[in-house]
Amino acid sequence: MPFVVRDPSSFASMATAGGSVRRASLNLRISPEDASIAGAATLAVVVQKPGVGEAEGAGTFVLDTRALAVQRVCLETAPARELAFSLGVEDAHLGTPLSISLPPDAENENGEIVIKVQYACSPECSAVQFLKKEQTLGKSHPYVFTQCQAIHARSLFPCMDSPGVKFTYEANVSVPAPLSVAMAALPQGVTENAAVAEDGSVTEEDGWRTFHFKQPTPVPAYLVAFAAGNLAKKAISDRIDVYCEPEGLEEAHAEFAPVAERYLVAAEDIAGPYTWGRCDLLVLPFSFPYGGMENPCLTFVTPSILSGGDGSQTHVIAHEIAHSWTGNLVSCASWEHFWLNEGFTVFLERKILARIAADDAASSGGDAKVAHAREFGFQALGGAQELKETVGRMGPDHRFTCLVPDLSTGEDPDDAFSKIPYEKGFYTLVYLELCVGGDEEFNPFFKAWLATKANMSVHTEEFKTAYLDYFNSKVDLPRRAVLESIDWNSWLHKPGLPPLFDDTSASLSPHANYDATLRDGVMRLASYFHHSDIMGIGTPPASAFVPGPEGDPSTWPGPLVVAFLTELSVHRASTPLHMNTLPLISSCVALSPRLDRNLEVQFLWLKLRLRAGDSSALDGTCALLRTCGRMKYVRPLFQTLISSKVPEFRERASTLFEEVKGTYHPIASKMVSRDLQCE
Ligand SMILES: [Zn+2]
Repeated sequence: MPFVVRDPSSFASMATAGGSVRRASLNLRISPEDASIAGAATLAVVVQKPGVGEAEGAGTFVLDTRALAVQRVCLETAPARELAFSLGVEDAHLGTPLSISLPPDAENENGEIVIKVQYACSPECSAVQFLKKEQTLGKSHPYVFTQCQAIHARSLFPCMDSPGVKFTYEANVSVPAPLSVAMAALPQGVTENAAVAEDGSVTEEDGWRTFHFKQPTPVPAYLVAFAAGNLAKKAISDRIDVYCEPEGLEEAHAEFAPVAERYLVAAEDIAGPYTWGRCDLLVLPFSFPYGGMENPCLTFVTPSILSGGDGSQTHVIAHEIAHSWTGNLVSCASWEHFWLNEGFTVFLERKILARIAADDAASSGGDAKVAHAREFGFQALGGAQELKETVGRMGPDHRFTCLVPDLSTGEDPDDAFSKIPYEKGFYTLVYLELCVGGDEEFNPFFKAWLATKANMSVHTEEFKTAYLDYFNSKVDLPRRAVLESIDWNSWLHKPGLPPLFDDTSASLSPHANYDATLRDGVMRLASYFHHSDIMGIGTPPASAFVPGPEGDPSTWPGPLVVAFLTELSVHRASTPLHMNTLPLISSCVALSPRLDRNLEVQFLWLKLRLRAGDSSALDGTCALLRTCGRMKYVRPLFQTLISSKVPEFRERASTLFEEVKGTYHPIASKMVSRDLQCE
């Protein structure tokens, strides 16, 4: 049985200690015309003995739901029969517990209880977004996609919606012809003129297609995902296809083909064999709320990372591929331990990118080791800046700045979401790596940890114990003293910046060990414009910028320009730049051609202009907010508008949100709405 902890974000986990869903079968009928999903979820559950379920009393099994219309619950174990069920009180964050009464003879010979729930999703389903054909690239077919992380799977099917509960599954998903379905699982073919009926069975039905899938690796509910629409695909390698609407397929293929397989090979070298079979990429419509989502076998990505091959956004692909090990193979046991997913993934992502830089250097006669350190340092220092900015914005005492936050009062994990688990988690791992000597010493442990915990869900104490056990038996006496001196409580449980963050001279400070060569040019240019316009009064720079070894900024590669604009926006978080400074910046880094092909650059530039009170940025901002629903862009842009001193910006924020909120994914719509209420 998989390892189970009590997860405060799941009624099922809290009520059913020791119980678990082992296998699932999902039969879903998707009707884009009336934006509905109905079908049946069949779950093979195992329960704690003696008795069934703890808190709810013997004979009851609890599942998570949100806004589901549950019609019928049956026991599939012989003799099959209908079961009594009840829906509990709805919680605004956690949804509604579904309690199912179980007879004493419910178990089959394998010790499983097989329950089939017939249900329909409601229009309030927070996991799903239905797009009208006008909202798609091709504008000729509707589209539907899911996003279940963190706790939205329960609005798609009744489940134990905790990352601590993993199950294998099969799925039959029906759509009207000629639509196709892609799922975060292994495709098993399609049956034409067949559809899932009301009772969940697959029957003949003209004009429908049923796609079959299988996920043989146990996954938590939040990694169940599908998309349906007019989908085409093109191969990048034997194990990677890119899926997209046909109209965007070539562009997506051109962007990812040069890097995807290379990233995967590098990741295997660092983390161990890739075990999921397929590693496909799906480029979604612009309303996809995240940069990427690591859905197994089929990573979901936003089209906003397509940037004309300038290399500034493909780190998202490295990140999602890295999740195949950190997050998907070894998952956090509850959202309080989310850093075990994201901190580890950022760590692996940056190792992958550094490995690629090293390989490139080696193949062009350069120094691979130097290139590795420079790329890793560049990425890490950018992350450190984001961490500093996040802690500054949230406040150094904010409880959600703890690496392991307390969610025991039943909060919405989406509210706790920030860069903290990513960047504080990454920083912590780099520190732990330094404590044992560096990459060479740490990597065998990293691989062993992933191999030992594969298919399990883990919590922070488990990781700490594994780390100490492994290294205490391997390192010499002085190193053991270092291990003993680790202030775990501060790293894991104290709010604010991590220890040693500002102590850049300490030998175990990650900062002291980062190679800042690539970052220096970015920092110098940001501080050049910052200091020349320090009061925001628009004085032109007294002298020209002197480029360093990274060359003239107008010729910089995409990643440096993105880093520069990010850095400048951090410098000028409180004092906006003067309008006169904006054109100087634009010409210095040759922004015009970059703006056309790179939405990240567009977003960063619009934010700087809005803060400077540049009214001519308003139309561009509205256009971006109308087309793109990625939270990384829409939340800060709405926040910048609503908190602006310019009345026109504030008014436009409210009217625009009313206009566009129905076109965003429910998660994005919810979060922007909360942001606007807070201001
Ligand atoms: Zn991630």
